[in-house]
Amino acid sequence: MAVSVGKTGTQSFVMTIGGECVPGKMSFGVINPATGKVFAEAPECSAEQLDAAVSAAERAFPDWSRDMDRRRQALLACAEAIKTHAEELAPLLTREQGRPLPLAHQELEFSLGWFQFTAGMNLPVEVVQDDPTAYIEVRHRPCGVVGAITPWNYPLLMFTWKVAPALLAGDTVVIKPSPYTPLTTLRFGEILNEVLPAGVLNVVSGDDELGAMITRHPAIRKVAFTGSVATGKKVAAAIAPDLKRLTLELGGNDAAIVLDDIDVETAAAKLFGYAFANSGQVCCAIKRIYVHESVAAQLVEALAGIANATKVGDGMDPESQLGPLNNKPQFERVIELVEDARRSGATIVTGGKPLDGEGYFYPPTLVTGVGSGTRLVDEEQFGPALPIIRYTDVDEAIRNANDTTYGLGGSVWSADPERAVAIADRLESGTVWINMHMMPNPAAPFGGWKWSGVGVENGIWGLTGFTDLQTLSIARA
Ligand code: NAD
Repeated sequence: MAVSVGKTGTQSFVMTIGGECVPGKMSFGVINPATGKVFAEAPECSAEQLDAAVSAAERAFPDWSRDMDRRRQALLACAEAIKTHAEELAPLLTREQGRPLPLAHQELEFSLGWFQFTAGMNLPVEVVQDDPTAYIEVRHRPCGVVGAITPWNYPLLMFTWKVAPALLAGDTVVIKPSPYTPLTTLRFGEILNEVLPAGVLNVVSGDDELGAMITRHPAIRKVAFTGSVATGKKVAAAIAPDLKRLTLELGGNDAAIVLDDIDVETAAAKLFGYAFANSGQVCCAIKRIYVHESVAAQLVEALAGIANATKVGDGMDPESQLGPLNNKPQFERVIELVEDARRSGATIVTGGKPLDGEGYFYPPTLVTGVGSGTRLVDEEQFGPALPIIRYTDVDEAIRNANDTTYGLGGSVWSADPERAVAIADRLESGTVWINMHMMPNPAAPFGGWKWSGVGVENGIWGLTGFTDLQTLSIARA
């Protein structure tokens, strides 16, 4: 492990460029959100170092793109390498991201499971003509160098959703994590480079401008981006001049529509989990609940019971069920959205104020007496503050659920699956769930409608997003 002591006396990390461990000429501090204090330093990638990373990926491409079986084996070796280093990586993830340690382990398990699943996938070949005059097949060819950019909420899973399919498809990668959570990704770079050929995977770190440089780099042929809608739009504009391929996985404002026939206690436990996992910092968390008036009071009471019993604290404390918000701007945003709701006359049922002491801790907060027009309902809060909105007519709930520029996910909750599916059919989102929410599956496409994204990740649809189509035609007459 190539770490050293940085200028503030904290641990300092390195980038991986062309198979080498490369320190930055400059570095930046990484804050532990449980303390609000810098605990490590990450390298600041220079323009020259980014060029070197892209050149290394270009050089590695011809050989890497040649042999799919070799790439499959390499992905399985990546999964093994992650498993071997899980005990080191999980606490580091908790310290930079904030979530409780068991959930950091869970992210590592998901990541290695995704590498394993992806290793077993195939790129489809479709024969569209096979007769005495011609043989024509449509196949998928790798794009070249992929520039990947990830957010801070699930740094390793978002890494995996891009790197695993890109590598299997035959692309080579330059990836940049969020400046809030660069450390585990930098370590992933070092660890995976022990089992990958030099230059196939390059990991650089830096601020938002480094992301912009990746999107503008002429030798990068595809950008795979996960982050906010606002940044996603900048990325789309930046890649336009040289028509790079693009996947955008952006924000969400997922609605859960709760029907009048649910078992309240069972549904409440699940709804709470899918709304407050990772302290609400999940793109496809439940961000609004629309509940039928006949069960609304009971549901709010059941959710409040769970919220009040939930222990919020440092992710390294085994008692903690929810950790801090990841960073100060996000912490301040949640505070502001709840205050805005309060000013508009909302009822704050639980929580509603940051916890005393250091760190970015905010308790699970339930808000009623709000509706469309309140920022907490209309905007993506990305934090532990959940608006619960009563409805009388389910058509009105569906209309409100769809009345947004977001379209990532949505769910319907009912004892009658057929009734629920009929409502789900009317939701405008990339995924619809019944009596569940949030859980992605490596075999199923995940992506957003409207401003929640362009293209998808996962499944065969995500894999082929790292390729260009090529038609092979052979004359026979
Ligand atoms: P963000 O958009 O601020 O940053 C994401 C990444 O983009 C970071 O690495 C950042 O440094 C980089 N970046 C910033 N400006 C850039 C630019 N001009 N060009 C290129 N890169 C740039 O998002 P965030 O705050 O890190 O993440 C939270 C958001 O991500 C939420 O909206 C959440 O819903 C979304 N998200 C979506 C998914 C999904 O799969 N749809 C998954 C996780 C998170």
